[in-house]
Amino acid sequence: MGKIEKGVNCSVIGCKNQAERSLSKEKLAGSGLSVSGDRRVYLCHEHYKEYKKATKKDRELDRVRFR
Ligand SMILES: [Zn+2]
Repeated sequence: MGKIEKGVNCSVIGCKNQAERSLSKEKLAGSGLSVSGDRRVYLCHEHYKEYKKATKKDRELDRVRFR
């Protein structure tokens, strides 16, 4: 996990950037990103940031809910 081969494009639909990260598609559930691909998806720098932001927000919401 983490580093991927060069020349892979971001899996987010409509994005043409070069991917920096690979993730399992399950991890993107709840991130709000529309991706193509089956089990493994690739994210560019921008979308990885977006993914991290989205999932962080989810965790914060959970924390508030359980307080
Ligand atoms: Zn992208």
